[in-house]
Amino acid sequence: MAKTTGDTCTFCGRNGRDVGFLINGISGAICDDCAQQAYEIVKEQQPAKGSSFSLNQKDLPKPEDIKKFLDQYVIGQDDAKRYLSVSVYNHYKRLLQKVTTDDVEIEKSNIIMVGATGTGKTLLARTIAKLLHVPFSIADATVLTEAGYVGEDIESILTRLLQAADYDVEAAQRGIVFIDELDKIARKSDNPSITRDVSGEGVQQGLLKLLEGSIVNVPPQGGRKHPDQKMIAVDTKNILFICGGAFDGIEKKIAQRLNTRVVGYSATKEKASVDRNNLLKYITPTDLKSFGLIPEIIGRLPILTYLNPLDRDTLRNILTEPKNSIIKQYKKLFEMDGISLTFDEEVYGYIVDKAMAFKLGARGLRSIVEAIMMDAMYCMPSKDKKELHVTVEYAKNKFEKSDVNRLQIAS
Ligand code: ADP
Repeated sequence: MAKTTGDTCTFCGRNGRDVGFLINGISGAICDDCAQQAYEIVKEQQPAKGSSFSLNQKDLPKPEDIKKFLDQYVIGQDDAKRYLSVSVYNHYKRLLQKVTTDDVEIEKSNIIMVGATGTGKTLLARTIAKLLHVPFSIADATVLTEAGYVGEDIESILTRLLQAADYDVEAAQRGIVFIDELDKIARKSDNPSITRDVSGEGVQQGLLKLLEGSIVNVPPQGGRKHPDQKMIAVDTKNILFICGGAFDGIEKKIAQRLNTRVVGYSATKEKASVDRNNLLKYITPTDLKSFGLIPEIIGRLPILTYLNPLDRDTLRNILTEPKNSIIKQYKKLFEMDGISLTFDEEVYGYIVDKAMAFKLGARGLRSIVEAIMMDAMYCMPSKDKKELHVTVEYAKNKFEKSDVNRLQIAS
């Protein structure tokens, strides 16, 4: 359809010889420069990609719907799911609130989830973002340091969110940021020492302004800020921050608190009902403070919830139940080669046993299944056999020869 001619551009009037090329229409022509400009104008006028998330209370999923959605992907963790569902619902209701002078202003409900590594904290946050179709990014608190020291600036947390939103600031400002390993920026010791705590308390201070909501200048490419860099201003007022951390050893602080509080007449009754195997469920903001988070940070993370350690049954369910469970993914991979993959029920038990024995948690399930399936995944696509039934003997045989097994035994 497009062809070059010697006519003039209908838009700028230049001759075809003076421009790169002309695109002819039915009753006119446009030169390459004008076409480029027209494209820029169209792009500016179009609603930016990602900001299609229009808030409307009617369409906002209710807490029960959010939990049901989470149930499809995350096994167990009912308490955390309920807390998350309610606070995410409230968060978006807050965004819908029309501000008038006499209105009660709803405060931001950032969340903190405490639970051992691999129990589903990131998965929960990621799944929520999937439901809401908002930009989502994960930041690791371990790499953050105060400005001027080796490490990453705190603002780089927002760089990832901007990238996830395709640099659409409007969309990013309604996104969700998951800050992992928050426990790693706990104050290193109780007494303010002479050496500065640049990756602990210093970072917590820096995080404050992000969490509470302020305009932050974000380096678009991340890393360290430098003077010549063009910054993007991001308002964090409506960004939901979900923090996670293992807080190793916090159970001791909880136990101490429970023991010191339990005195007097009702003591024995209270003591009897304490579940010693899962002290995390009694966690309070005081314990986070004893662990080394500064009170200001705790105050800006008002929703505190916990994740249960994964027991055998949960691990077993994680293998097959979630919508995109590991086993379903492998079946799909084989199906794409026209191969039907089936497992003996006991194989699942064997995989869970190995994950428990090697203390690999849910993350380990994938590497164990990978080790078992590797040979078949390598050979079968070029063979005629269209069925693979995995028995316990097969699984054992493959796993025992694998590197995962050798590594674990050696360690
Ligand atoms: P965390 O952030 O708590 O360290 P993740 O959410 O990254 O842990 O979990 C690691 C992996 O383990 C996930 O990708 C997921 O496959 C699996 N997993 C962990 N917990 C669960 C769970 N409760 N339900 C389903 N899958 C889980």
